Amino acid sequence: MLEYVSQSDLLDQAPVVANHMNITKPPRGEPTLLTWTQVNTLFHEFGHALHGMFSDVKYPTFSGTNVPRDFVEYPSQVNQMWAAWPEVLRNYAVHHETGEIMPQELLDKVLATQTFNQGFATTEYLAASLLDQAWHQIGPDKVPSGEELLAFEASALEQAGVAMDEIPPRYRSTYFLHITGGYSAGYYAYIWSEVLDADSVVWFKENGGMTRENGDHFRKTLLSRGGAEDPMIQFRNFRGAEPDIEPLLVRRGLK
Ligand SMILES: [Zn+2]
Repeated sequence: MLEYVSQSDLLDQAPVVANHMNITKPPRGEPTLLTWTQVNTLFHEFGHALHGMFSDVKYPTFSGTNVPRDFVEYPSQVNQMWAAWPEVLRNYAVHHETGEIMPQELLDKVLATQTFNQGFATTEYLAASLLDQAWHQIGPDKVPSGEELLAFEASALEQAGVAMDEIPPRYRSTYFLHITGGYSAGYYAYIWSEVLDADSVVWFKENGGMTRENGDHFRKTLLSRGGAEDPMIQFRNFRGAEPDIEPLLVRRGLK
């Protein structure tokens, strides 16, 4: 997703937003087919696009996806739910030769893979996030060097309850680029966005799914607000409550 012009009431600007997608070129004479991962990326990036296009704020600084890093992936991840939504799926997931709609049995298999290896994936990711926080929270006089670095890492993981030989952190300090470039102390943002996302998907399911009314509510409370309002206030206005972690645990098969 690329925002060419940010929406702004102050500058009387309408948003100009585009999705550009790199797709593997098919063999000569054959159609371009998308993998499930590419389909999800498409829906994800379109979620970012909606965040930019529905923006309705005064200042361009707060327009669309100009929100904190631990919030920006939330609306885009919510939009991914529509990829497997029955009415939507029936529209695009058809066999390219026979026109047959994707059988439920096949979809169930695809969806079942989403919980594969989540114990490992979640733990190695959280270990790296907590290590990032450990670095963030020490004073300049406490910064370890040389041999001390390994001891610092070990103690940080121990204190966070994720010190396991079988599951090392996804990144170790010496090659953990996120802790210096942009993400500084914000590597946790991916999973926090997913906490908000999973809880929001439950809201849609509890409230009748894909209806105009639900879409308007999400647009009014969230997609149109950009960074003009505190993210937690936006979430509460949408969800009617603070975020709940349970839906994420269920989605990942960890409950
Ligand atoms: Zn994204």
